[in-house]
Amino acid sequence: MTARLLLATSNPGKVVELRALLSGHSDLAGVTLLTPLDLGRPLPEVAEIGTTFAENARIKALALANASGLIALADDSGLCVDALGGDPGVRSARWAGPTDADRAAALLERLRGVPASERMARFVCAACAAAPGGALAEAEGVCEGMITEAPRGRAGFGYDPVFLLPAFGRTMAELSPDEKNRISHRARAIAALTPRLRELWKKAP
Ligand code: IMP
Repeated sequence: MTARLLLATSNPGKVVELRALLSGHSDLAGVTLLTPLDLGRPLPEVAEIGTTFAENARIKALALANASGLIALADDSGLCVDALGGDPGVRSARWAGPTDADRAAALLERLRGVPASERMARFVCAACAAAPGGALAEAEGVCEGMITEAPRGRAGFGYDPVFLLPAFGRTMAELSPDEKNRISHRARAIAALTPRLRELWKKAP
């Protein structure tokens, strides 16, 4: 039987990045990547009730693995801004407005007048793969940066246009997909997770 891995997310930006990060990975040779849409039946909406990225990733991966009967990989991620006491944090997807642009604009507004030396922030990604029955593989990745004064760039998604990478002198939205996939929090989490994924197929039915 072909090994299959369900990407437990409906966020199109994350699906694109996860596919690029996982496809062709030597630890995943022969594994078919699926999204909930590929299964042709509704899977449960999972409430992100955890208080940490790791807890939410675990909740999503376990719920989707048990509902689908497949090994499921969830990513819970977000932006933590020092000057806002770590906000928006685990609420990054639903903080301050319905669209990515609304949330980025609200963030810039809240940081208006904050000097560059106090605009430090980091993207955090917790990745969790779960097998039906509960076996887990987990990893976390972090990418450090600063919040800009205005949005720049059109690539990526979410807060990418307001997240400056000082080493590049560019925002995350000004990087090519390949560049982002070399340094992002998601890339780092997936790089740490993939060597542990093989073990899950041994435990899964
Ligand atoms: P969740 O993990 O689905 O709860 O939501 C993550 C949210 O954090 C996204 O909707 C974005 O707003 C933000 N986020 C996570 N990863 C990234 C990224 O790589 N770039 C920009 N924003 C991100």
